[in-house]
Amino acid sequence: MNNKVVLSPWLGCIADDYTGATDLASFLVASGLRTIQLNGLPEENEQIDLSAYDAIVIALKSRTCAVTKAVSDSIQSAEFLLQQGCQKFFFKYCSTFDSTQEGNIGPVIDELMNKLDVKSTVVCPALPVNGRTVYKGDLYVNGQPLHESPMKDHPLTPMGDSNLKRLLETQGSGSASVINLNVIEKGEQAIVEALENASQSAQYIVLDALITEHLTHISHSVKAFKLITGGSGLATDLAREFVDLGGSLDKNDKQSEQNVSPVLIFSGSCSAMTQIQVSEYKKDHPALQLNPIKIANGEQSIEDISQWMFDNIAQSPLIYASADAETVNLVHKELGKNEAAQLVEHTFCQLAEMAKERQVRNFIVAGGETSGAVVKALNIRGFEIGQSIVPSVPIVTTLEERPVSLALKSGNFGQQDFFSKAKRKMTCS
Ligand code: ADP
Repeated sequence: MNNKVVLSPWLGCIADDYTGATDLASFLVASGLRTIQLNGLPEENEQIDLSAYDAIVIALKSRTCAVTKAVSDSIQSAEFLLQQGCQKFFFKYCSTFDSTQEGNIGPVIDELMNKLDVKSTVVCPALPVNGRTVYKGDLYVNGQPLHESPMKDHPLTPMGDSNLKRLLETQGSGSASVINLNVIEKGEQAIVEALENASQSAQYIVLDALITEHLTHISHSVKAFKLITGGSGLATDLAREFVDLGGSLDKNDKQSEQNVSPVLIFSGSCSAMTQIQVSEYKKDHPALQLNPIKIANGEQSIEDISQWMFDNIAQSPLIYASADAETVNLVHKELGKNEAAQLVEHTFCQLAEMAKERQVRNFIVAGGETSGAVVKALNIRGFEIGQSIVPSVPIVTTLEERPVSLALKSGNFGQQDFFSKAKRKMTCS
């Protein structure tokens, strides 16, 4: 029997936002798994041949929606992946564990465990290549505890606790245990044994990791788990499990197609790094700041913004709502948190639709929620994953006849020259 037929697709992934999905997909592609990203579930009449892929990543926009919606979207995705024949499942969330007291990470894990009939799962958000580490079950961002890092000021999911055990037990219905670094450093066999022990009593097993080598050990140690959860780093060498099962890897180093269409940059992320990237790009490119209060009262109109966008389109303009915590607080007081976010996202969506209609084919979007909104507005159903601009941010190309290329960057990823770098890689300019 041909193993490929049985194993493809093998891995079914559910990501709680769009940039997180492309982040995970880039790791899977780099390790040799043929991977497709679907943005939401395919419509009933939509025909996409998924048997050509080893891994399917379903991108949801479930990070900040109501818990019930996040759970039902995730369960529907799991059902779809089961129908496709997937054998192993990966729930991907942010390496900074973006969530609130209520969820959505804990409740989604609980319901996925029920659906897949498993008693325990691993929790591994660490992504050392981007400065996210876990030590004694506490999450750090570039050496700062999560609750002291810029994530404490996130507009939608401010993180006030760094302790993963506490976060999980508050959000979910189960209990958590932590596998400490001294075990992780001993390697695969020790981790497998510790996981076996921990799963006797705990539902969520948190793993420490400080460097990529730790993630390699961990990804080699989770064979017994039908459901695994974490950041993209957990995919570091999951491909080995696939090979051990008889799968063969894709050696093709696909290059993204470059095209000469203008590049349009939207930034809805208010992360510390995105703010630096915006300031840097503004130095020598046209840039327009959106002001949610002025948009709400009509002083800044979509007609004026789009006029500016098309006037500057040849210079790869940047339109941004990114602002510091103080400014965002003022906006929240005036408009309300969710209303402000919706207003900003809706504005980017309108602009994206107009630009696509006028043949813009390259989009760079900063912000997970923002990317999700733009991708939905452009009705982009799926992506092929291309070369990475920086770790976790690949160029993705849509499956349409006239493809669109996108770089979807989650908040803190990339260095200060990210926008120029992404623009160069997309257009070869
Ligand atoms: P990140 O990847 O950094 O978390 P997101 O796009 O996921 O970025 O989240 C940022 C949220 O903040 C979005 O919903 C966006 O609409 C909202 N936002 C952006 N700019 C502002 C602003 N000036 N005031 C209020 N909210 C804003």
